[in-house]
Amino acid sequence: MILTSHIIVGGLLAGQLSTYGGSITGMANYFFQAAISLASHYLLDMVPHWEYPIGEFKRISETHEPQLAKKAFWFDLAKVGADALIGFSILFLSGYFLEIGWKSLIIGGIFGILPDSLSFLSWFSPSGVLQTHNKFHQSIHTKIKAGSKLGIATQAAAIGIILTILFFV
Ligand SMILES: [Zn+2]
Repeated sequence: MILTSHIIVGGLLAGQLSTYGGSITGMANYFFQAAISLASHYLLDMVPHWEYPIGEFKRISETHEPQLAKKAFWFDLAKVGADALIGFSILFLSGYFLEIGWKSLIIGGIFGILPDSLSFLSWFSPSGVLQTHNKFHQSIHTKIKAGSKLGIATQAAAIGIILTILFFV
């Protein structure tokens, strides 16, 4: 799923959890928010969805041979950067109107995209932990390739359902 989807869901989930308080307060609540936002990433990845083409990233994920001199690599990185920027802009804008604390938005947004960041790092590091996580991340990710129309619709629907449960149930 695109980063924007993960950032919005992770950030707003954390924001909503921050208002519950109750038995989970203070630092424990931040850990709780981080864990739930992280879990939301894997759950969203299970939904068949559309992703913009990042050909060079796909090649690296299959061959594990990053070629940083390639223009295609930097072009893909720019696309992902723009995606994250859009995601955080929407998140902070909604957080402002919903009066959600910025700490929860940042925690939720970052943990919402942590699995993708770890998979990115795994291309550059032989670290066993990163490689194991990457395998888990890929195994949990949907194998169904949805076309752009259907894939954007399923993505929007998944976000819509989560936010509806979050704010109206
Ligand atoms: Zn992912």
